[in-house]
Amino acid sequence: MNHDILVVGAGFAGSVLSERMASLGYKVRVIDRRSHIGGNAFDEADSNGILIHRYGPHIFHTNSAQVFDYLSLFTEWRPYEHRVLASVDGQLVPIPINLDTVNRLYNLNLDEAGLVAFFEKVREPRDPIKTSEDVIVNTVGWDLYKKFYRGYTRKQWGLDPSELFASVASRVPVRTNRDDRYFTDTYQSMPKKGYTYMFSKMLDHPNISVDLNTDFETIRDKTNARHVVYSGQIDEYFRNCHGKLPYRCLTFEHEHLPSVEQFQPVGTVNYPNDHEYTRITEFKHLTGETHSGTSIVREYPQATGDPYYPIPRPENDILFKKYQTLAEKEENVTFLGRLAQYRYYNMDQVVGAALSAVEGLRKRLEEVNA
Ligand code: FAD
Ligand code: UDP
Repeated sequence: MNHDILVVGAGFAGSVLSERMASLGYKVRVIDRRSHIGGNAFDEADSNGILIHRYGPHIFHTNSAQVFDYLSLFTEWRPYEHRVLASVDGQLVPIPINLDTVNRLYNLNLDEAGLVAFFEKVREPRDPIKTSEDVIVNTVGWDLYKKFYRGYTRKQWGLDPSELFASVASRVPVRTNRDDRYFTDTYQSMPKKGYTYMFSKMLDHPNISVDLNTDFETIRDKTNARHVVYSGQIDEYFRNCHGKLPYRCLTFEHEHLPSVEQFQPVGTVNYPNDHEYTRITEFKHLTGETHSGTSIVREYPQATGDPYYPIPRPENDILFKKYQTLAEKEENVTFLGRLAQYRYYNMDQVVGAALSAVEGLRKRLEEVNA
């Protein structure tokens, strides 16, 4: 069939955009170089029948009713509030740092006001706050920074927190109460039958065709689509003409433990200072499945491999802006998503960006038609 739009990538960016444009009557062809839909949110049953996330733990959370309502067209939900413990000084303590974290680490008995005073005493005021080191040291001081943030960040990014924008470490707040949830968003739920099921519902539309194992590079000169929506790496689209944009890579070590019903007390345990991996996630906490065994994943950050994280730091921003300038000149291409916009987007932010792009794209296609 002839297509109005070619969508590169069947992750959140590509799938949401495809579904919306298809529902407006446009014919959409979606391609992905991988053998499956869902992008990095892809999940599947492992050989023991436990639902796992191949590319690391994906926990859905958003404050946007629009995003939540939209995805609810394709899935039911299982309420889930993620909790994370950090292995520090031989103990498992809550992260984000909260009242219990400090009391247990320093053997104190502070109340909320006491913790505010404690932070006031230990913090090192910084002005301006530019880097991830600034924001944490300014809030909780050097010791907690070293225990929870410095080692983890160096491992995760291969960079010191002082080399990363403040926005990176600011993703994990510091609390003075006892709230031990990782996120505080209004909507916190997992798709009841998994992400892949949700994506398959989204893409199941008579105006959408999906071709997997198909790289854009192999068809870019052959497509007669009126518009391309591209959610791959922006530097790759432009054949790295300004040099490669750095993306942080990971390897995922999945393991099934046949006779262990529960491996750890919460969904994720972070290891800021020990091991080569950053964290271990046990999927049954996230999905609510029951099984006599359990499946876990360890995440090992790497310099090379598949691109998972844009690296938010000044020099990368400058390089990205050069590509963005080129992107703005591509009249018939929309760059959308975490890799194409080089933004440290969560899933809901990608959905929001895709929903926002729909109206502009519709107008553009109508103008071309007129
Ligand atoms: P992707 O999911 O990366 O999809 C892009 C797709 O394009 C890929 O499938 C790729 O194969 C395809 N592609 C690229 N180039 C080409 C090409 N040339 N030809 C054909 N196909 C191509 N977000 C949360 O909200 N909560 C979480 O808990 C969370 N945890 C995460 C954990 C990890 C380890 C990682 C890496 C990310 C996590 N995220 C989380 C972020 C989330 O994965 C992203 O926000 C979201 O998946 C991005 O969607 P996307 O469509 O932009 O990109
Ligand atoms: N971080 C940290 N210690 C932690 C958790 C997070 O130093 O225990 C820092 C680290 O730099 C990390 C960033 O905060 O990359 C964002 O953490 P988040 O859990 O949001 O990372 P993601 O789930 O996106 O990998």
